[in-house]
Amino acid sequence: MRTLVTGGAGFLGSHLCERLLDDGHEVICLDNFYSGRRSNVIHLVANPRFELMRHDIVEPILLEVDRIFHLACPASPIHYQYNPVKTIKTSVMGTINMLGLAKRVRARILLSSTSEVYGDPLVHPQPESYWGNVNPIGVRSCYDEGKRVAECLMMDYHRQNRVAIRIVRIFNTYGPRMAADDGRVISSFCVAALKGEPLDVYGDGSQTRSFAYVSDIIEGLVRMMDAPEITGPINVGNPVEVSILELARLVMELAQSSSAIVFKQARPDDPMRRQPDITAARRLLGWEPRTPLREGLARTFDYFRAELAGGQAAAGAHPAPAYRPA
Ligand code: NAD
Ligand code: UDP
Repeated sequence: MRTLVTGGAGFLGSHLCERLLDDGHEVICLDNFYSGRRSNVIHLVANPRFELMRHDIVEPILLEVDRIFHLACPASPIHYQYNPVKTIKTSVMGTINMLGLAKRVRARILLSSTSEVYGDPLVHPQPESYWGNVNPIGVRSCYDEGKRVAECLMMDYHRQNRVAIRIVRIFNTYGPRMAADDGRVISSFCVAALKGEPLDVYGDGSQTRSFAYVSDIIEGLVRMMDAPEITGPINVGNPVEVSILELARLVMELAQSSSAIVFKQARPDDPMRRQPDITAARRLLGWEPRTPLREGLARTFDYFRAELAGGQAAAGAHPAPAYRPA
């Protein structure tokens, strides 16, 4: 099986490339290194079944592949808001290019969509049948609406051209190879706690998220790709919901840190609650997350400790300005 992974040098993509090589696939990892890093996949380069290509998916590409895991898109708010027009081009033009490729070579294609399609949800927890509550003109829209259009394109290529599609809605994921400076809450809190710097909580910290460890999500993606006759969308995430303030306290406890918790102005359009309903993933894929938050965070700490010790925490990541609430 020859498998293309777009965004393969990113956080999730690099773990997926590793997993696919372990499963015996030939892997083409395609990335423009916008928010990904060569260092995430450098250990795979010597493998004769692995190929690393610099390419921007906004431009078409001709390849012969059997399967496409389409992950390319910046995922952290500071990365996707740094160049919002590029973000939406990546989701729209990039997804059209990957669907065109899938159609031409009759490859099966999986889109890594997101819980962000639910916006600031009015239904809790969120089942796949919920249509969402997204601000179409806000600072998160380039990402949220981009992914909604990408899902629409997937469905239309399926209905119109019989392309074999899989749509997975991934909820907040964390683990080794997150970029230390990506501004996501787990990377920011872990790095701050390890450095003894303050943990910035946006708003009063009562907003919630449900965090899944990376290996659990990769398992979900692989099962979805392998499953016969499913298009999705299907939620893949950990249903254990925590408030951001609870998370800050847990990180401090695990790091045995004496950092302060500092409350900052809430981010615009920050969703207040988020928790996946994973009934469909349990039933159709026999999948559910296995890694408790404490265990996953301990492994993530080990990674950031090593990164900080090597002085490479920000090496190679796309330079993005510090996030400033409007
Ligand atoms: P990431 O930023 O680490 O990885 C994205 C990768 O895509 C990077 O390597 C980046 O360089 C590459 N990329 C971006 N634009 C590109 C373009 N135009 N052409 C080629 N490559 C491009 O993010 P991640 O957390 O690994 O997310 C991967 C995918 O999963 C994204 O599609 C994201 O929307 C989705 N997702 C992630 C999460 C999460 O919590 N990590 C949650 C929901 C959905
Ligand atoms: N957050 C925070 N401090 C940080 C980074 C994020 O309080 O340093 C909050 C943020 O406002 C949001 C939650 O943590 O409510 C998750 O943010 P993240 O950017 O990780 O993911 P997303 O908002 O895209 O789910």
